[in-house]
Amino acid sequence: MSSFSRFAAIAVATLLSIATSRAQDAIPSVPRELLEDIATGSRVLADLGVVDAFGHVSARHPTNPKHFLMARSVAPAQVTAADIMEFDENGEPVDARNRAVFLERFIHAEIYKARPDVNAVVHTHSPGVVPFSVSRTPLRPLYHNAAFLGEGAPVWDIGKEFGATDMLVRNNAIGKSLAAALADKSVVLMRGHGDVIVGPAVQAAVFRAYYTDVNARLQAQAIGLGSDVTYLSAEEAAKADGVNMVIMDRAWALWKQKVQPGK
Ligand code: MN
Repeated sequence: MSSFSRFAAIAVATLLSIATSRAQDAIPSVPRELLEDIATGSRVLADLGVVDAFGHVSARHPTNPKHFLMARSVAPAQVTAADIMEFDENGEPVDARNRAVFLERFIHAEIYKARPDVNAVVHTHSPGVVPFSVSRTPLRPLYHNAAFLGEGAPVWDIGKEFGATDMLVRNNAIGKSLAAALADKSVVLMRGHGDVIVGPAVQAAVFRAYYTDVNARLQAQAIGLGSDVTYLSAEEAAKADGVNMVIMDRAWALWKQKVQPGK
């Protein structure tokens, strides 16, 4: 074997071994636990009926904060850690390897850009929330689990800036407009579409996404009773939200157990 052939054989073997190790470990620089949390959060929200075939959960990249992590285009109930991909600050995949990506990834890209305090983003079409996205009745915290709504949940109307669209956040400009409407809040409703929920960690964003949906359903019921509804005051909401951030581990442990593969 000539020295060139030997070199070529070694080069090919090295490239093959790199390709194999990358296939086994989707994103080597990210702790496995975070990839699992994103996948678990997706399956939990599907199990709780907050998302169905659509919707997504993402997390900020722990060591490259301009980037974020999100599943390839797959239904939330089917997401596993192996499906998680890395995206850059413009929402483009770092290493697509022919995997299909979510059309609305720009929601996540623009919120991570605008909100350094946010480490997780959830997007849903939650059935409880959609009526409030098309009504002038504001979503307000009815009970303590949804206390984070006390800071307000603005409604973003894609038509105001972009006219008649297909309603999807399909580019950076639309994502930026949505992030501006979210401002410093935890939840923004999307007119005729769904909502976006943010948090300091995946667990918090999932908790808030679920209780946004439950609160919306309860609020519609309470309004239906016909008399004035009493909501949490700003002071009550602030106090209750502090407690929720402490006790949400209990909810996460329960929800996680229910969606373990094989259950
Ligand atoms: Mn959507």
